[in-house]
Amino acid sequence: MTVDTTSNQRLRVTIVGAGLCGLATGAAMREYADVTILESAAELGEIGAAVHLAPNAYRVIKNLGGDLLKYGSVPCKAYRCWSPEAKILIDAHFDPLKDEGCEWTLNHRADVQKELWRLATTEKGLGKPCEIRLNARVVDLDTSTGLVTLASGQTVEGDIIIGSDGIKSVVRAKTISASYNSAPSGHSAYRTLVPSHKIESNERLKALGLLEGRITVVDGGERRIICYPCRDGSLLNFVCCLPDSELNEISEEKWTAKGDVDSLVKSYETFDPVWQELLSQAEDIGLWQLRDQEPLDRWVNGRCILVGDGAHAMLPHQGQGASQAFEDAEALGYVLRSLTTSSSSSSASSPPSFEEVNAALQRVFSIRYKRATYIQQLSRAGGLGEMRRKGLSLANGEEAPPLNPMKQQEYTWGYWGAERWEAERKDWLA
Ligand SMILES: Cc1cc2nc3c(=O)[nH]c(=O)nc-3n(C[C@H](O)[C@H](O)[C@H](O)COP(=O)(O)OP(=O)(O)OC[C@H]3O[C@@H](n4cnc5c(N)ncnc54)[C@H](O)[C@@H]3O)c2cc1C
Repeated sequence: MTVDTTSNQRLRVTIVGAGLCGLATGAAMREYADVTILESAAELGEIGAAVHLAPNAYRVIKNLGGDLLKYGSVPCKAYRCWSPEAKILIDAHFDPLKDEGCEWTLNHRADVQKELWRLATTEKGLGKPCEIRLNARVVDLDTSTGLVTLASGQTVEGDIIIGSDGIKSVVRAKTISASYNSAPSGHSAYRTLVPSHKIESNERLKALGLLEGRITVVDGGERRIICYPCRDGSLLNFVCCLPDSELNEISEEKWTAKGDVDSLVKSYETFDPVWQELLSQAEDIGLWQLRDQEPLDRWVNGRCILVGDGAHAMLPHQGQGASQAFEDAEALGYVLRSLTTSSSSSSASSPPSFEEVNAALQRVFSIRYKRATYIQQLSRAGGLGEMRRKGLSLANGEEAPPLNPMKQQEYTWGYWGAERWEAERKDWLA
């Protein structure tokens, strides 16, 4: 559908947070909305780590006109699982482009951010470029008027407020739940990027095939090593998940906290020496406490909706946190377009009423809630320790059916956008 983009029909949308979710949401709405993105940071920086995007997520970026392959993102076509004793347990191959119509990509996070920034702000895109304001920390908002207040005392007015301000969301605290409902999961994750020449110059490490287009997992039960290449294979990304009790240092709830390489290697000292040799290639490593968040019972309050980690932060064991945020962005782009084309109570040139905005946001919630919450809970179940044993009940009391692990990938990858999902309504794994 083509939208008439004359200025008197355009929505005014305020997005709080310019993380991966906020940028994708802006890019998805700029065709028909005047988008202002408010970001507390003075500049946009991404932590040095990678993110893999399954076809359900990369499809969203491609449909927005994005291309991560031009940055050297690696198409992933295989999964290999090793035992701690260095025996191959699973060697699976995929052809996502053929089977799902879209690649599964292994990306540097900074490249994803750069591409989304481009899509949100380029003069060449549809509609109007989003305005991104840095140093703009939101401290308050009014869900009935759409007014947002910054720490500087300035205000920004809009028809809709989208809270994409991450796991510690101020928007959530001001609108849905004052209590911060994420808690330590009992596990932490080391993350680092290792230059590939360090792997290639070591015959034993080179023979592991880590730099090919595959995800490699060393599965030691509670302790796991996950690695994959990015940037044309010039970097190898590592995520090492382990119980806090196995750490030889303290982890913090901070994305920027550093870890120690010797402590990391010591935590895996019962693994085959080849894995210790691999881990000892790390130089600059981050150490994050993995947080678990209970499902919220709603994401919408008046003119405001929560999305991304603010709505459904999840453990990383399905690699779906950013991916679900992209699905949220696409759903907002799809549903809110209707506010510019079918204003029932008002003339086409008036802004949509409170009721119209609220109904549209509730529709986004109804499309997204069960799927995002289910994947949030699959991430627990695929996880470690106590998290595995947590149930699959939603915050509204509804119970999801038991998991069928063989169907999980089909369920997660097989998402073709909000329009089709709304029509087919397959909220659960069959
Ligand atoms: C170890 C690990 C591995 C992961 N691997 C994957 C993976 O492979 N694939 C995947 O899909 N996902 C992965 N994820 C999850 C993914 O990183 C997150 O889900 C995603 O980055 C969340 O994006 P977001 O934009 O919602 O939040 P954030 O990235 O947290 O962005 C929030 C933004 O809001 C800004 N902000 C905060 N408060 C305010 C305020 N008051 N005013 C204005 N701005 C504000 C912040 O500065 C920030 O820029 C992983 C996560 C972890 C922990």
